[in-house]
Amino acid sequence: MEEQIKVATEKFESLLRAQIERAQKMEENPVKKDFSKADKIIIGVCGGDGIGPVITNEAVKVLNALLEDEIKSGKIDIRVIDGLTIERRLERGEAVPSDTLAEIKKCDVLLKGPTTTPKGGTMESANVALRRELDLYANVRPVSVPEKNIDWIFYRENTEGEYVLGSKGVEIDGVLAFDFKVTTDKGTKRIARAAFEYAKNNGKNNVAIVTKANIMKKTDGKFSKLCHEVAEEYPDITAEDWYIDIMSANLVNPALQSKFQVFVLPNLYGDIITDEAAQIQGGVGTAGSASIGDKYAMFEAIHGSAPRMVERGAAAYANPTSMIKAAEMLLRHICRTKEADRLEKALTVCTETEKKIEITRDCKGATCSEFGDYIIETLKRF
Ligand code: NAD
Repeated sequence: MEEQIKVATEKFESLLRAQIERAQKMEENPVKKDFSKADKIIIGVCGGDGIGPVITNEAVKVLNALLEDEIKSGKIDIRVIDGLTIERRLERGEAVPSDTLAEIKKCDVLLKGPTTTPKGGTMESANVALRRELDLYANVRPVSVPEKNIDWIFYRENTEGEYVLGSKGVEIDGVLAFDFKVTTDKGTKRIARAAFEYAKNNGKNNVAIVTKANIMKKTDGKFSKLCHEVAEEYPDITAEDWYIDIMSANLVNPALQSKFQVFVLPNLYGDIITDEAAQIQGGVGTAGSASIGDKYAMFEAIHGSAPRMVERGAAAYANPTSMIKAAEMLLRHICRTKEADRLEKALTVCTETEKKIEITRDCKGATCSEFGDYIIETLKRF
């Protein structure tokens, strides 16, 4: 036991030093690319695993249709990047193979299909690795349910909290296990600023800061305090503290749910509550997600690779709406607002107002590809 305590203590010291170094390296005033003025934009595409390639293909079809002229002129390059499959990751023993990462880093933005993470073992999730390698600190997930007057956007911190040392905990055999949660000052301020900037630029006047600061006093306490400090720079926006437990209830409370606008949360709470929010919208297949950093950004569905759908031969009936919504977010990120608005209108027609064809869970409705074609046809109306 004494020996294990000694090893764990030494491990803690090295983790602490590495985290201090990470925190010190974070840039305070990064220079961001202005996509509205860029001569060339490279969009990388990784299909991922399971239903990933099927749904990603539809999102790429939609992007090709919307960006046809700029692709022809060479201003926009949609570049398929192979090599992020589970087979190759396992073979190489790397969450993201280094040659694939190098290709991804040549792109400005990435459209990524869901990737499988094997249970157990030591293989890290490709997503966690990409978020870290590309420093994608803001996970942004919009949720909208017009008939309930719900228009939410979640800013989940994406690079620290419980995840940064998630596979580096310590265990004293047969006695206990210890994991770590890390909240840095710069890491918190940059996610807070992203949320408040969004609120300011989109006419929102309320940001909910969601933590469990009554229990996690150091980490969540710091998160809440620093979010309030950033909020002082935005006098027209109210910042309200909420605890994650009651917020989970509020999201399904008809008397309260429409009052929320923008949420800022640490990593784990954001991970959980955004799936709840997506379910309120109509299921994980309907929700897109962006992971944004100062240099790179990645756009994807919020769900996983649905291996059971593939096993039962139903991949062709996967719903591509999530990936197409991710494509819409990508368009907005690269300042293609007109194209994003057209896509948003087509999505509303195809999924809410007209629904000429529908994807159904029993696989008796439209296929993923037919639904993609329906969106492209509908785009012509706008
Ligand atoms: P999942 O999201 O893959 O599936 C959950 C349920 O939703 C299943 O019933 C599935 O059939 C259904 N579903 C998901 N997407 C759908 C779509 N587009 N159309 C219709 N139905 C859809 O969750 P899981 O089974 O827990 O995870 C499977 C794998 O995905 C795991 O290896 C997990 O680690 C990984 N994963 C990856 C990401 C990512 O890459 N961003 C996110 C979550 C999970």
